[in-house]
Amino acid sequence: MCLSTAYLERKGRREVIMEEVAKVGLRGDEVVLEDLFGKSIRTGARLSEVDLMEHVLVLEEPHELPEALRKAKEFHGHLGPMVTLGLRMGRVISEKMGSEPFSYRITAFTGPKPPLSCLVDGLQLSTPCTVGNGGIRIEDGGELRAVAEMEGRRLEVSVKEEIRDKVAKEYDPEHEEVLPLKLWAMSDEELFDLEESVLV
Ligand SMILES: [Zn+2]
Repeated sequence: MCLSTAYLERKGRREVIMEEVAKVGLRGDEVVLEDLFGKSIRTGARLSEVDLMEHVLVLEEPHELPEALRKAKEFHGHLGPMVTLGLRMGRVISEKMGSEPFSYRITAFTGPKPPLSCLVDGLQLSTPCTVGNGGIRIEDGGELRAVAEMEGRRLEVSVKEEIRDKVAKEYDPEHEEVLPLKLWAMSDEELFDLEESVLV
């Protein structure tokens, strides 16, 4: 077995971000690391060194935001935790339901007011559904939950209670982009609860 340790280099200092790394994937400008137990992290950090003899991977902190977050910031006007969670939620939905426009619809139970409704902009950017094309309906509820439905299938995705608590505790308007980057690096399993059903 030759598992590696991944380090993130930040201002000349290295800190371990994952041990027993079994897989490294490159997706666009992001690096996806997966450990022996299947836990994965996705990071906008750049791979700067791979030492196969020493089993060491070194990543460098990005100087810019990952592209998806940069686009979200441009579209939404700022980069907060809710639009970030919406982006990731939409990715989960389109991985399962596809990216064909008009093939399914999403109901978001956020209500119409920010910050919760910021989630909807993330969904619009990462699924084929938008408010304008009739693919997204916003319902009252004050929840970070969305239901995607197509003929015969239903997928419900909710932000985990622990994550809502984390956002409430760690959100810092002075350093607004810190928390979105942390959330971005977490796995889908850490962020969301999923419920899938086949309708007959
Ligand atoms: Zn917002």
